[in-house]
Amino acid sequence: MKPVTCHIKERSMLARLAARYMGGNQIAMVIGKTIHLHGTSREDFLRHKWWVRHEICHVMQYRELGFFPFLWQYIWECIRVGYYANRFEVEARAAERDAAIMERVIIL
Ligand SMILES: [Zn+2]
Repeated sequence: MKPVTCHIKERSMLARLAARYMGGNQIAMVIGKTIHLHGTSREDFLRHKWWVRHEICHVMQYRELGFFPFLWQYIWECIRVGYYANRFEVEARAAERDAAIMERVIIL
């Protein structure tokens, strides 16, 4: 399959809101093919390979399910089982050790 082109958005308002809601200082969140950052720079984020792999896994989940179906199922999982046990988060945490996932994306 063709690699997905992703973008990084620093100082994202959405990520700032999510950080406030979840109570974290540094946050990355994926909306479609864009990784939104708050409290961290692009350089700092990219230095943490496990973190990049985690977020790239979410990009893949959007691609596999489609934008709205993924968002809906993700939110539903959070309501049903919580953030940590959310199957999309379980998969993303496993992807943190999967170096090969980086071959599926181009980060601009
Ligand atoms: Zn995640």
